[in-house]
Amino acid sequence: MEITKHLLMNLSLLLVLLFFTQLIIERQVNEEKREIYQLFYFIISIFTCYIFSVQVQDGIHFDLRQVPMILGGLYTGYSFLLAGLTLLMRAFLGINDGFWVSVGVFSGLAILLKWIHPWFNRLTLNSRVGVSVLLTVITSFLLMQMVAIVNEPISHPEAWISFILIPALTSGLVSYSIETIRQTFIIRQRLAKADKIEAVSHLSASISHEIRNPLTTVKGFLQLLGEKDYPEDKKKEFIDIAVQELKRAEEVINDYLTFARPAFEKEENIEVEKELNHVLNVLSPLANLNGVKITKKFSPGLFISGDRSKFKQGFINLMKNGLEAMPNGGELIIQTFLTGSVVHILVRDTGIGMNEEQIARLGEPYYTTKGKQGTGLGMMVTFSIIHAMRGKVEVKSQIGMGTTFHIRFTKTL
Ligand code: ADP
Ligand code: MG
Repeated sequence: MEITKHLLMNLSLLLVLLFFTQLIIERQVNEEKREIYQLFYFIISIFTCYIFSVQVQDGIHFDLRQVPMILGGLYTGYSFLLAGLTLLMRAFLGINDGFWVSVGVFSGLAILLKWIHPWFNRLTLNSRVGVSVLLTVITSFLLMQMVAIVNEPISHPEAWISFILIPALTSGLVSYSIETIRQTFIIRQRLAKADKIEAVSHLSASISHEIRNPLTTVKGFLQLLGEKDYPEDKKKEFIDIAVQELKRAEEVINDYLTFARPAFEKEENIEVEKELNHVLNVLSPLANLNGVKITKKFSPGLFISGDRSKFKQGFINLMKNGLEAMPNGGELIIQTFLTGSVVHILVRDTGIGMNEEQIARLGEPYYTTKGKQGTGLGMMVTFSIIHAMRGKVEVKSQIGMGTTFHIRFTKTL
């Protein structure tokens, strides 16, 4: 039983090592590094087999070294390196009959592995496991035969069984585990890709939504200019705002085009009152159209930090919803104040309001009650902007009474 015990011990060590290698490899995204770690696994495995090898008779050591050698050659392609190391380590156990048997078997094996490595990688999962097991059985058998020829026939009948069966079992278990690990990795990569595609398609929809806002504003001003003859300074003001809005649209497009690169959030000082005023200017055509009165209650000198253009985008979406909730007129109240180091921004409308379910679904992509008119992306974008600026949103609403968005940011010093 001594031999079987030793070989089973080898087997469990190889599996434990594989488990830890897997833990390390899992964190590696770099393909080359993953391969290097995998090669290390095989090298350390061969080494471990030697440390725990068992001497069956004079000069004959038994262990599972052929398993990492075969699997390493098949999976990494470094069969010569692995064979060289195997023989080097074997040499430390003594240059004797067993050593020369190893030289013969492992050199032949290295050449064979090198040769079939490309073919092996094209096989299906099950065939790869099958080939690994088959090669292990043949090699183990050969080793036993050679030992019997150069030394003396192996006297323990148990040795025959355990030296063929246990390596085959180990080979099967290890290669099956490697395959499973690979499979999981591939699936995870696919998921990450699908995620990105999803994000891009969401983004492109929201971008067209974001482009539509400034375009609507510009259209509104042009219509106003066409309706009646405004005084020169009023006309100039309208045109200025229209130009600014077109610039914003341009910025949004630029933002979108740079999306491929990881988002580089600008950290600017945002003067809350100034930016909210700009947002209100932008929305005033829509407010006029709906007969909505805008009331501002601003505390001066409030600053927060974040991306200025995104901040505006977030509040345009929010206030636009407020205006759209009041198609027959009402009041939009924008209030800011400071408590301690918290900057509060309240956006209140006296519109149609929302029920519990609507409030809960707010910010869900594509959730809209406006049919073809809505995209259901405005709030999603707003929430993500506010969260990115480490802000918090609280929503209170009552059907028929109106809605209040209460946003809290941290003041910049
Ligand atoms: P969209 O405006 O394109 O419908 P949003 O994400 O901006 O998409 O808003 C989602 C939904 O949330 C709206 O369709 C509306 O039902 C509801 N909603 C958002 N803000 C308000 C508000 N101020 N008053 C009433 N309902 C609102
Ligand atoms: Mg909206």
